[in-house]
Amino acid sequence: MELEYVSEDVAYIPGAVNIGVIIDEGRATLVDTGLDRDSGRKIRKLLEERGIEVAAIINTHSHADHFGGNDYLVRNTGATVYAPSVESGIIQNPILEPVYLFHGAAPIKNLRNKFVLAKPSPVHHVLTPGETTINGRTIEIVPLPGHSLNQVGVLVDDVLFCADTVFSERVIDKYRVPVVQDVGSHRDTLKALKETGHGLYVPSHTKPTDDITGLVERNLETVETILADVLRLLDEPKSTSEVQSELCSSYGLDLDVVQQYYLIHTTLMAYLGCLYEENSVEIRLEGNSLRWAKAR
Ligand SMILES: [Zn+2]
Repeated sequence: MELEYVSEDVAYIPGAVNIGVIIDEGRATLVDTGLDRDSGRKIRKLLEERGIEVAAIINTHSHADHFGGNDYLVRNTGATVYAPSVESGIIQNPILEPVYLFHGAAPIKNLRNKFVLAKPSPVHHVLTPGETTINGRTIEIVPLPGHSLNQVGVLVDDVLFCADTVFSERVIDKYRVPVVQDVGSHRDTLKALKETGHGLYVPSHTKPTDDITGLVERNLETVETILADVLRLLDEPKSTSEVQSELCSSYGLDLDVVQQYYLIHTTLMAYLGCLYEENSVEIRLEGNSLRWAKAR
């Protein structure tokens, strides 16, 4: 782990989740905290070795790999936690992530591991979009909903920490159906992001770039392709699991882990929901079975 400076007092720690570090007089505001206690401990050690203490944490959204380090850091540094509404509810009650993956029911053990179930963290302040002062520094909270219902980014010194708005080519090629919870919002967020011209963008899972256009286009194209492919499958009415099975097979995926099945299932619901809200598909509720079909 290293601290990579992108301006005089803004840096990030590269890793499985890039951690933003905004420094003000030896005190840091983190953007996300990684997966678990281990990431929290490493972040603290790296900063303390440089004479920097952790004062605040901004969580961009409530996926476990973005706030799993909170518990350790809050206990050991007394950091103040900031998160947007909705996301803050899950950060304080992380069981809600596997609960929604398991359709609202008490989750089975396959969905109770640290990748989807982090330790709870307090949220001291709920963030709203716009300028706010944290740890003596004015920053802008940028709404980036879609990947997660109320995801936000953090803009400081013309550097935008843009969370999971964009995934890399490698991730898209590997997973084919990247996690999205609200496809309509995600598409709007990507289009808006493309029109911004910030000095640097720091996505959570790929390296920073001063030109986000290519990545945004690739991510938008992925959304449009999945929408078109799902719609094509619905020439004949199909249940959600039939759509999932046929879509994944057509993408060469072989879902052999229960958690992966449910993550894609939730994402597919977001695609079906988007097509339904746009009146491209309709619901056929017959014989106690719910099927989706291309709108007539
Ligand atoms: Zn995420």
